Amino acid sequence: MGFEEIIGHEKQKNLLLSFLEHERMPHAFLFSGQDGIGKKKTALEFVKHIFCEHRNGCGTCKACIRIDRGNHPDLIILSRQGSEGSIGIDLIRGNDEKKIRGINQEIYEYPYESEKRAIIIDGADSLTREAANALLKTLEEPPPFNIFFLITASEEEIPHTLRSRCSRVFFTALRQEQLKRYFTDVLRLDGAQAETLSLISHGSVGAGIFWLERDNLQMRNRLVELITGKHKGFLNTTLLSERITRTGDGVTVYLSFLLSLFRDIFVLNVSGDSSMIINRDIRDILELERVDLRWIEESMKRIQETIRIMRYNVNKWLIFENLLLHIMRHA
Ligand SMILES: [Zn+2]
Repeated sequence: MGFEEIIGHEKQKNLLLSFLEHERMPHAFLFSGQDGIGKKKTALEFVKHIFCEHRNGCGTCKACIRIDRGNHPDLIILSRQGSEGSIGIDLIRGNDEKKIRGINQEIYEYPYESEKRAIIIDGADSLTREAANALLKTLEEPPPFNIFFLITASEEEIPHTLRSRCSRVFFTALRQEQLKRYFTDVLRLDGAQAETLSLISHGSVGAGIFWLERDNLQMRNRLVELITGKHKGFLNTTLLSERITRTGDGVTVYLSFLLSLFRDIFVLNVSGDSSMIINRDIRDILELERVDLRWIEESMKRIQETIRIMRYNVNKWLIFENLLLHIMRHA
């Protein structure tokens, strides 16, 4: 795995490489952009370039291999923890009682093997307010041998003060043909499957991999049947909501799918042109008679609202079920 194997993001990769050449590295980066498009992967590859014995992320030297195996002593990765899915103050400030060493303690020690230490905060929007405040002081003036990567799909939820200390690199969604190339070249899928996945994944490799799981794709079809009112009888909103929310972060993939579903129903209803829809593999279920446009509009509003609420510590199962009850078609 090297930089060249990360599909797309050419501008972003070139920008990062130019920092390496000019030796004027920002001490903190903010990698922003939707989930599943390769932000963390890009950060890891970049760290490899910095730590690599040959300075090119060769993939074969000791440093590169240790990064790949996830056991390089100078690479720290923080991510959401626990049921509330946040990054708490202990991880930043440390907690002697719980024997947790915090980032703010770590950064004053010299790196063990490399010239620099890299700290990746994956899901930086989930830093608690206290944690963000504690980190802010650190980011103001960290010892020079540290480099931070804050990674997020919800940039606006990171305090502005924290963001402004970072060099922002924005990652855009992958284009459909880039995704398709990923599915055929890297995952070795056949053309038809790659085509379908590249359409329904909204520019995200992560979403594509999620839909590759047969259970997830089947649940997507159950969901459509339930919402459109087709094939009634053997479905149950409670059970379906439980199964969908059990996929954890997958629930956001289902929610963006629901948005695309209503968009498709709208397009089909208004133009009748099925070549313009996203979910082409299920087009026959989407052809509905006498569609009420208010139903589409109100459902989309509710889905967007649910996407917003789901970011917080809430009972996802209940919220998802409540959504389904409101957007099911009662024709
Ligand atoms: Zn190397």
